[in-house]
Amino acid sequence: MPFRLFTSLGNEVREFRTVAPGEVRMYVCGVTPYDVTHLGHAFSYVQFDTLRRFLLWKGYRVRYVQNVTDIDDDMIMVSRRQGGRPIAEIRDENDAILRADLDRLNVLRPTVYPYATDHIPEIIETTQRLIDRGHAYVVDGDVFFDVASFPRYGRLNGLSLAELGKRENPESKRAYKKRGHLDFLLWQQVEPGDPSWDSPWGPGRPGWSIECTAMAVKHLGTQIDIHGGGSDLKYPHHENEIAQAEGAYGVEPFCGWWVHNGMLQLEGVKMSKSLGNLVLARDLMRTYEPDHLRLYLLSHQIRVDANYVAGALDGLADRYERLRRAATSVDAVPARPAALQRIVERLEDDFDVPGALEEAAGLADAVLVGAAEPGTAAALREALQILGFAFAGARGPATGDVSP
Ligand SMILES: [Zn+2]
Repeated sequence: MPFRLFTSLGNEVREFRTVAPGEVRMYVCGVTPYDVTHLGHAFSYVQFDTLRRFLLWKGYRVRYVQNVTDIDDDMIMVSRRQGGRPIAEIRDENDAILRADLDRLNVLRPTVYPYATDHIPEIIETTQRLIDRGHAYVVDGDVFFDVASFPRYGRLNGLSLAELGKRENPESKRAYKKRGHLDFLLWQQVEPGDPSWDSPWGPGRPGWSIECTAMAVKHLGTQIDIHGGGSDLKYPHHENEIAQAEGAYGVEPFCGWWVHNGMLQLEGVKMSKSLGNLVLARDLMRTYEPDHLRLYLLSHQIRVDANYVAGALDGLADRYERLRRAATSVDAVPARPAALQRIVERLEDDFDVPGALEEAAGLADAVLVGAAEPGTAAALREALQILGFAFAGARGPATGDVSP
């Protein structure tokens, strides 16, 4: 059965094929480490880790790039608030906490983990290409992408330029300089004292979206297979990324599969620092085993908005315990292919992880009551390895760098 996977571009499930045979080039938008991360981030990275593990199990080499946005408005704001504390210090402090959380959740470390500030030459080069190819213009030290020069803008979101034009543009800084309402900054002048780099257009710093394009192209090439990120990044960030990559390099499509994870809410409300309603993965892992939290996160289909409620993990305690006991029970017989296949088929069918876990729970029950055919426990163990559970023997985070 071929692997079929949903892409947001066109809103359809399509048979998965890679640009290069046997190799998956995968980019997932990382965090802006100006503050602590919350359970929503863990949800995203555990989901993409599981997709990556499934592709590895299918025999692909997977090159997985996840960036760190270490220069943007939020980083500068926090640095100012902390009396001009160096941005690299703020980044390293918050990033270390995130990495520790993801290690405990058994998330494979990225093949490449690039910082935006290490890619200023590539960002300048991409911006210059866009100017040379007629997709960008310079106004007094700022460089804007000219959306009118890219008719496909809006396709990822299924919206025409006219429809998008009615929306508020989240990147509306210095709007008086722009030719078009939807135009966005590739390079920007900075306030006195803020971090800046030399460029052909004067000292300044990059816009947000151009960073991801420059890092994706540098580490994966001008065409990639999977681009992941939260559904809140679909507009304008990912729309911008398509316009930038295809505009600068003239290849289409930049990305074969756009995979967006749903948002995690808390008791029906979007988690946000300003509302003070954050749940942190590491707080939950004080009470629950990391694999138990992983099971909770994977109980939701990747695209669906999830709603965390207090005690949600308690409701999964019985299932967690049964999976763990069954998968670790001794079964000297090799994995029974038919049993494993039932679970794999769910994953082949648009990465239905909750469905795969349902199948796994059925197998676990059969193992525990002694009604399973020989090899079922081993099959269950292998399936749970694909899904990244440490108790089943899935490989650990440090082995993520499989194809440097
Ligand atoms: Zn990004």
